[in-house]
Amino acid sequence: MEINLVSDTVTKPTEEMLRTMFHAKVGDDVYKQDPTVIELEAKAATMFGMEAALFFPSGTMANQTAIKLHTQPGEQLITDKLAHIYHYEGGGVSFNSGVSCCLLDGNRGMITAKQVAEAINDPEFYHSPLTSLVTVENTAMKGGGGCYDFEEFKRIKSVCDANNLKFHLDGARIWNALVATHDNPAEYGKVFDTISVCLSKGLGAPIGSLLLSDAKTIHRALRIRKMLGGGMRQVGYLAAAGIYALDNNLQRLADDHRRAKELGAVLEKSSWIAKVEPIETNILIFSLKEGLNENVFIEKLKERNIHISSLGHGKLRIVTHLDYREVMHSYVLETFERIVVK
Ligand SMILES: *Cc1c(COP(=O)(O)O)cnc(C)c1O
Repeated sequence: MEINLVSDTVTKPTEEMLRTMFHAKVGDDVYKQDPTVIELEAKAATMFGMEAALFFPSGTMANQTAIKLHTQPGEQLITDKLAHIYHYEGGGVSFNSGVSCCLLDGNRGMITAKQVAEAINDPEFYHSPLTSLVTVENTAMKGGGGCYDFEEFKRIKSVCDANNLKFHLDGARIWNALVATHDNPAEYGKVFDTISVCLSKGLGAPIGSLLLSDAKTIHRALRIRKMLGGGMRQVGYLAAAGIYALDNNLQRLADDHRRAKELGAVLEKSSWIAKVEPIETNILIFSLKEGLNENVFIEKLKERNIHISSLGHGKLRIVTHLDYREVMHSYVLETFERIVVK
């Protein structure tokens, strides 16, 4: 039994999900003739109180499309210093949109309206790049899966409105945030210009993301997706997995959150742990005591068939997910209780 806690992207489709995919009605989605893709797009848009949605092969492509929609080359966006769009999208912000990032020193990957207001360049001061976009992440991945207070989104939105800025949400793990906070997703559509969501993380679909917005913006997004090479044909087979995931795998995320908290509680009591960061969802970040080697620890766990990852700078990460079942969880808890690190 191999236990992979490296990421929530490692899940594999179940028999039932595969069966649903196998029986999907499909058509050429480049001609907008795939009924299952159309159904998924409508379902997601409605859920978040948006007019329209567009299916993407990856979250990166959905985010990059959003940035391209809202900016012109030479302009600047504002985001947290831990943002996925800055660290993990291959430099796409500058490559695809010719945009620079103003990075804010947020709290566990989350920024405030006050910080945003202070970071906006005076549009009359033509020496500086024109600020045109603010992006946030919920949950904030590299910050440890923390959830925003929805009121802060409203405050940031007011700052955006007052300064003619667009507001994008990287909602790769929005599902975890919704389950943890009980936010109403329909409220999100009122605050954000665009939202990207991933079906291939906590929800357990093998592939797929969506970009949500008003109908006019999604129509523009269609051309950008085409330019990025993201036009796909009979992808109703993949969209079917997304529909299945939304119908069946959303509420169970609470189990992932409970397990992450239980793992954290055991680690907190261990003599070899320096710090466990706050756990709100399915991501658990912790560090070993000074002088202990994280690679030795990772190897030790590997010998016991448990795989976790390093974030560098002495930090380790565990991510719980759909394929991390209760039997595995009991074994990992027991291992953490017994293991000696020195
Ligand atoms: C995973 C992730 C994405 C999208 O990544 P892809 O691998 O391109 O689907 C975007 N933002 C965050 C915060 C993520 O964790």
